[in-house]
Amino acid sequence: MDRGVMIGLEIHLQVNTVKTKMFCRCSSDYRSALPNTNICPVCLGLPGSLPVPNKAVIRKAIMLAIALGSRVVDRIVFVRKHYFYPDLPKGYQISQHRGPGMAPIAVGGGLEIEGEGEPRIIRIRRLGIEEDPARITYPYGDPLKSPYSLIDYNRSGVPLIEVVTEPDIRSSREARVFLEKLLTLADHLGITNPDLEGAFRVDVNISLENQERVEVKNIGSIRDIEKAINYEIARQRGIVAGGGKIKRETRHWDPLRGATFVSRHKEYEEEYRYFPDPDLPPIAVSAEVVKEIEDGMPELPWHMAERYVREYSLSRYAARVLVSRRALAELFERTVKIYGDPDKVADLLINDFLGVVNSRGGNFQLVRATPESIAKLLSLMDKGVISIKIAKMILERVVIGGEDPEEIVAREGLLVISSDKELEELAEKVIRENPKAVEDARRNPKAINYLVGQVMKLTRGRADPQKISEIIRRKIGLER
Ligand code: ADP
Ligand code: ZN
Ligand code: MG
Repeated sequence: MDRGVMIGLEIHLQVNTVKTKMFCRCSSDYRSALPNTNICPVCLGLPGSLPVPNKAVIRKAIMLAIALGSRVVDRIVFVRKHYFYPDLPKGYQISQHRGPGMAPIAVGGGLEIEGEGEPRIIRIRRLGIEEDPARITYPYGDPLKSPYSLIDYNRSGVPLIEVVTEPDIRSSREARVFLEKLLTLADHLGITNPDLEGAFRVDVNISLENQERVEVKNIGSIRDIEKAINYEIARQRGIVAGGGKIKRETRHWDPLRGATFVSRHKEYEEEYRYFPDPDLPPIAVSAEVVKEIEDGMPELPWHMAERYVREYSLSRYAARVLVSRRALAELFERTVKIYGDPDKVADLLINDFLGVVNSRGGNFQLVRATPESIAKLLSLMDKGVISIKIAKMILERVVIGGEDPEEIVAREGLLVISSDKELEELAEKVIRENPKAVEDARRNPKAINYLVGQVMKLTRGRADPQKISEIIRRKIGLER
């Protein structure tokens, strides 16, 4: 932590859990559709079209505000934020802002993060809704080297919830912890599916003591946010150490070079010419509606973690890891219901299951395991039916392939033969067919290994040799 550093984040959470866009009924799924197929006059900004707000998104934004302890306004006002760029056909983005006659959905509140010392509160400045602009792609990656650009308006009008923090963050590590906690919250509240590419984008504001702040725009991964912060702190320190002053400017992050660079144009607040959108009448939010939304909210992840410690006697660490994704928490609780033993379930999920998921980019959409299949896998290991090695080998196929562990083990002959009767019959057969070896074994106990080997061969390795040895010894009269 660094007292001289101040960092404030503007986080754009994409509400990718609703079916339609923010102000029209076009599908919000722009990832799988062909470019410019989910479009209409509203999201193309054609003259005469009229936006209609998506109520489900407003409810989700209010939910997030409640979870963050923010104060929800009683009158939602949408504003026009003007700028000129091909990704914005109307010439303005429908957004929210503070100012005369304007107010975002909620102000205030905060999120507690575990700092390096005492937990600290990162205060929330405001929370609002806006629409995503279109997606521009440059055929050669770099805009300056591309002879043309392609615009996909499928993303135009996809809902975003913007969360703006106070400049309370002191380091790249704190920024990461804060963002992870916010994303976990958004996942639990059904606002954002973090597995989807472009699920969030962050503008990072960084300043040193008594210096102007620099805004680094539009970073899409937590790792890059950490790197950009570290880069900026070092860059700004260098300038100050050399007797220079930091200019107030907007920069961009280049993940390939690992550096920030100045963008082509500066944006001043005044240039956006915010004013209430006359096409969208203010929406009244009554205390009853807020109460109703609050009553319908799912358990918050930090309450869930506390309950795991209380109810399942898990460590705080284990509880926190398990609630980090809603899908993981659900898998945990449902597996415990079937199998019992929360410690063993938590251990398998945290150490083995997550290992598999993380080796595939931490993408939970790839997970096909069910509580039943995880419970079966645990039971197979318990009974010594399969070895740890085999459990690890089939884990991938259970987690990603969605296969039933019992079926894999049975089909591929991995199951230990536990029936004594079956083993005794095999032993008798081997004794009958190898009279000479039996004679040898009676004289020299070491020679029994040959007979054990013959039985193991018949079981294709699915038996405990110690147990076979005991059976044979008994049968040839070496033991009673
Ligand atoms: P608003 O639009 O409400 O005026 P700003 O645009 O001033 O808010 O702030 C945007 C972001 O910049 C916020 O996340 C805020 O915390 C951050 N910020 C403001 N001042 C500083 C500063 N001195 N150093 C770092 N970040 C700052
Ligand atoms: Zn549309
Ligand atoms: Mg701003």
